[in-house]
Amino acid sequence: MIRISQIKTDYRSDTSGLLKAAAKKLRISPGQILSMKIVRKSLDARKGQIHNVYTVDVAVDKEPLLLKKFSQNGTISKAADVVYRFPKWGKETLFHPPVIVGSGPAGLFCGLMLARHGYRPVILERGSDVHTRSRKVNAFWEKGILDPQCNVQFGEGGAGTFSDGKLNTLVKDKYGRNRLVLEIFHEAGAPEEILYLNKPHLGTDVLINIVEHMRNEIISLGGKVYFDSQVTDIYIEDSHIKAVEINGSRQIPAQCLVLAIGHSARDTFSMLLDKQINMSAKAFAVGLRIEHPQSMIDQAQYGRGQDQWLKAADYKLTHTCVNGRSVYTFCMCPGGYVVNASSEPQSTAVNGMSYSGRGSANANSAVIVTVTPEDFKGEGPLSGVEFARKLEQAAYAQAKKAGGEGLVPVQQFGDFCDGIPSTEYGQVRPVHKGGCVLTDLSRCLPDFICESLKEGIHAFGEKIPGFDRQDALLSGVESRTSSPVRIERDESFESSLPGIYPCGEGAGYAGGITSAAMDGIKVAEAIARRYQIPEKSP
Ligand code: FAD
Repeated sequence: MIRISQIKTDYRSDTSGLLKAAAKKLRISPGQILSMKIVRKSLDARKGQIHNVYTVDVAVDKEPLLLKKFSQNGTISKAADVVYRFPKWGKETLFHPPVIVGSGPAGLFCGLMLARHGYRPVILERGSDVHTRSRKVNAFWEKGILDPQCNVQFGEGGAGTFSDGKLNTLVKDKYGRNRLVLEIFHEAGAPEEILYLNKPHLGTDVLINIVEHMRNEIISLGGKVYFDSQVTDIYIEDSHIKAVEINGSRQIPAQCLVLAIGHSARDTFSMLLDKQINMSAKAFAVGLRIEHPQSMIDQAQYGRGQDQWLKAADYKLTHTCVNGRSVYTFCMCPGGYVVNASSEPQSTAVNGMSYSGRGSANANSAVIVTVTPEDFKGEGPLSGVEFARKLEQAAYAQAKKAGGEGLVPVQQFGDFCDGIPSTEYGQVRPVHKGGCVLTDLSRCLPDFICESLKEGIHAFGEKIPGFDRQDALLSGVESRTSSPVRIERDESFESSLPGIYPCGEGAGYAGGITSAAMDGIKVAEAIARRYQIPEKSP
């Protein structure tokens, strides 16, 4: 196939003119193109003009001739897709199925790959199945009833289930794992366009069904998925993992254990530390979430409002402060909701989600500042966990003081800068899942973070007019951006305790849905390279 990039079409056009445009690039007639596949589609809204920019692969009869003719043309080349290959079974015998802790993207993809290759994994998830979980999460948002085992962080699908479902990642795709993740999502019910959009996203409504579909495939291949099953202990014999304890009572044997526990499993981190598994504190980022009218962001990015062709616009902004710290936007949700994403009692953490239509009135995004172990003022691998927990407890206490116990504390940006509590909203009204209360957010964060956020948000106002408007609405605290801990693993992906495979975001090897899923696949490969299973094992 021949790959043609930089095919520009009017943003208001569908794909019907694409074949003609591709043929024109190759200087052949459309009839000479035998087949065509879209590889990439992005939107270029720079310089006041809006275009779709496509990359396509076409099959033609005289491919070598055309490739030679356009050998100097940087936009025409031979299509070279990486073909993903799962390794062959290794030699060591696995007498018990691999046990995977956590059913977030890392655990689910690890489990699915192992199931597809005959390993019949067992997945243990502390939270409930995705539908029961949805009910529990809604009860939290509507009535304030937090289930510490099943919430926005914990339960089937992991932290990504109630999310915007952005699928882009900066991880390079040398081995075809990124493509595989998108294909698996598509097979499980995601729209085909995720295979070629440069910024694919799913939305919570779509993710819920995908997660269930993937679980059913694992079960149909002989795997087992147990919900409401928290791993509370691990048993070691002769310096090797032997079994895990579920909910403080039942034990199941484990020769090979994948820890795909996410960044919020603080109790599990403590248990692993007690078992002397090598872990270290790592840098992460904390801050607040900011809301603006989506129409303001659309106007800044497109120079016009949304129409049937233009979806809610996004942004990504960075700034280096005079104090040397980086401030950046993260997990931006166009047409989304700010969500109360807490998982511990008397603590408040926020995040963002959207539905597939991204149709709410507000754009929201985290605005965060990198913090390093030197900032944590604590000792040991869990000092970052404690740092984040204190901020979340401060946010809870601040809301309580303002008469809104359990609600998300919010403040107008202008008041945040002036150091006064907000008492009313401006034009930007909160678009939240879970209630909120006006107060003073500067009480929830250290001064260096508040100062960095103020400077950063003002700097962003120079890139997106109105970003630093007085009534832009801040919510706090944004503290679950990535893992504050790394569970060390070696080149065979094992921890300091043989047989244990740290995996995904919680272990410090991913950041986001797609990269966590890719890490899950990597760990499945590492297990396959090492182990075979007896053909007729139960
Ligand atoms: P997780 O998804 O956190 O999964 C870990 C799982 O392990 C959880 O289900 C947990 O219940 C379970 N678990 C933990 N401890 C135990 C135990 N002891 N026993 C049994 N089970 C246990 N990323 C994006 O790329 N795009 C987005 O748009 C996006 N939006 C987000 C919105 C929200 C509201 C949140 C909270 C996160 C969002 N993220 C987003 C981040 C993304 O969800 C995570 O990066 C990703 O889910 C990490 O995957 P993981 O599998 O490593 O861990």
